[in-house]
Amino acid sequence: SPTPSYRGRFAPSPTGPLHLGSLLAALGSWLLARQAGGTWLVRIEDLDPPREVPGAAALQLSTLAAFGLRSDEAVVYQSTRSALYQAALDQLLGQGDAFPCRCSRRDLEPFGGVHRRCVAKPSGQHEAIRLRVPDGETCFVDLLQGRLCQDVGREVGDVVIRRADGFWAYQLAMVVDDAQQGITDVVRGMDLVDSTQRQVLLQRFLGLPTPRHLHLPLVTDAGGAKLSKSLAALPVDPGDPMPALARVWVLLGQDPARIALHGSADAVLQRMASSFDASALPRGPVARVITPP
Ligand code: GLU
Repeated sequence: SPTPSYRGRFAPSPTGPLHLGSLLAALGSWLLARQAGGTWLVRIEDLDPPREVPGAAALQLSTLAAFGLRSDEAVVYQSTRSALYQAALDQLLGQGDAFPCRCSRRDLEPFGGVHRRCVAKPSGQHEAIRLRVPDGETCFVDLLQGRLCQDVGREVGDVVIRRADGFWAYQLAMVVDDAQQGITDVVRGMDLVDSTQRQVLLQRFLGLPTPRHLHLPLVTDAGGAKLSKSLAALPVDPGDPMPALARVWVLLGQDPARIALHGSADAVLQRMASSFDASALPRGPVARVITPP
C-alpha cells in the first residue's frame, strides 16, 4: 500500500564515475520509493575534497539522468551545508557528548589501539572531535538483513565527527542531512551496513529519528571477488543504459522476463516500477554478477 510520506535518497560521493554497485543502490532506492508512492532525492556527499575527482558529481548526475533517475527535489550538496553540521557539533559539545581528541598511538595502547575515552593533552593543534560512545551494543533492524548489533565502543571506538584535518566526518553529515531532508528510508549497499550503528548513536545523541534501513547485497564477480576488484567496479555506460539496467534488475532479484527492454530508459523504469516485487529482493550480504558485463 502506498506510503506517501516515504522519502528515500541516493547519496553518492563524487569520487569517480558510477559503477554497477552504485547503480544497484540508486535503482533499488528509487524502486522502493516509487513503490511506496514516495519521494526520491539525490544528495551529493562532497565533503572530502582530497578524495574527490573534479567533474565527478556532474558526471554522476548526468549518468543517473541517462538511466532515468532524477531527484524529485533540488539536488543537495553537502559542501554547502557546513552551518547545519556545525550546529549539530555544537549541540554535542554543549551536551558533553563530544570531545576534542588528539591521541598518539601510545596514548591508545591502554585501549587496545581503539580510540576510546582518550582525551589528549590540549595541544592547540588540529584535533579531531569525537562522539563519546556509550558502553554496550547498539542495534537496528534492517528490512532485508534482520537485526544487526555492534559494540561500537569496542569495535570502532569513539566516533570521529569532525576530522583532524578540519573536514566534517561522513557519519555526522549524513545523519544531519537525512534528518533535515526528512528521509524515512535509507536504502544503500551492504558496504555501509557497519556504519549504521554509529549513525544510530548519533541520531540518539542529537534527538533525531532513526529512519528505516535496507541494505542491498554487494555486487561481486562470479568467484565472489570484492566489488573493487571485479568487473562490477567498471563504470556504467550512460550512452547505453539497457545492459546495466537489465543486470541490476536481476541483481535485485527481479524476473527479467517481466521487463521489455525497449524504448527510452524512462519507459523501462516505469515498467520496472510497476512490476517491482520487493519480496524478491535477495537476502544476505552478496549478490553475484552471474554473467560478465
Ligand atoms: N556517500 C556514501 C557513499 O558513496 C553513501 C552514503 C549513504 O548512502 O548513506 O559511499
